[in-house]
Amino acid sequence: MSNLLIAGNWKMNKGPEEAQKLLKEIRANLDGRKLTSQVAVFPPYVSIHTAKEVLDETPVFIGAQNVHESSPGAFTGEVSSSMLLEAGCSHVIIGHSERREHFGESNELVARKARRAINDGLKVILCVGETLQERKKNRHQKVVMEQLRSVLQQLTEENANSLTIAYEPVWAIGTGETATPQQAQEMHAFIRNYLTELWSTQALSGLKILYGGSMKPENAMELLKQEDVDGGLIGGASLKAESFCEIINIAENLSR
Ligand code: PEP
Repeated sequence: MSNLLIAGNWKMNKGPEEAQKLLKEIRANLDGRKLTSQVAVFPPYVSIHTAKEVLDETPVFIGAQNVHESSPGAFTGEVSSSMLLEAGCSHVIIGHSERREHFGESNELVARKARRAINDGLKVILCVGETLQERKKNRHQKVVMEQLRSVLQQLTEENANSLTIAYEPVWAIGTGETATPQQAQEMHAFIRNYLTELWSTQALSGLKILYGGSMKPENAMELLKQEDVDGGLIGGASLKAESFCEIINIAENLSR
C-alpha cells in the first residue's frame, strides 16, 4: 500500500459561500499537521476560486468534476483543461458514472477528455464501475476492462503518473450500499493486473486505484486496509468537514 489519497467529490453542492465555510473547517483540521496521505477536493466550477483562496499554502489538491475535450473555443457552457489549470486545479475527475448516465458520456468521449486533460497538464481521476445488473450477470470485470481499455489506448505509459483510477460500482454510489472490502479488493487487483498487462511495472509504481461508493468513517478503515485500495473518492461524506476529516485521519493511521 502506498500513501493513500482521500478525494472529496462534492458533485452539484456548495456554492462559494458554503464552500468557504466547509473548506475553512477542513483547513482548521489540517493546519499544523504533517500529512503522509494526500488530500484533494473537487468543488463545482463556481467554487474553485474560493477553494484556491482558502486552501492557499496547504498541501490539499484542488480539482474539477468534469472538463471539455477541446481547446478553448465556441463551446457554450463548457470549460477547458487550460482554464482549469489557470484557475488553480491540478486534477480533474473524468468519466464519473453520473456523467455517463445523465449526460450520455461514452467510453470514447471519456477517453478523449482524459487524453486532452493529461496532454494539457492535469492529473486525471478516471472513474470506472459496473451497474448492479452488470454485476448480477457476472459482467463486472468485462465492463470495467472495456472502460479502461478505451482510455488506455489513447495514452502511453509515460502518462501513468498523471492517471489515478477510481473504481466506483454504480450500485454503491450515493445509495448507502458499499462494496464489501473483498469485492473492492478483488476488482482493484483485477484492475492492477490488467494495467500490468499493458504498461510496465515501473511506470505503474505510483498509480493509485481509489475506491468510491458510500465510503464513510464507519467503513473506511476496512476498505482502505485492502492491499490494492490506495485511497477513496468520497461523495456524500465529503460534504461535512467532520466525516471527511475523520476519513483523512483513518488514512493517516494506515499510510506508511
Ligand atoms: C462519488 O460521487 O464519487 C461517490 C462515491 O459518492 P458517494 O460517496 O456519495 O457514494
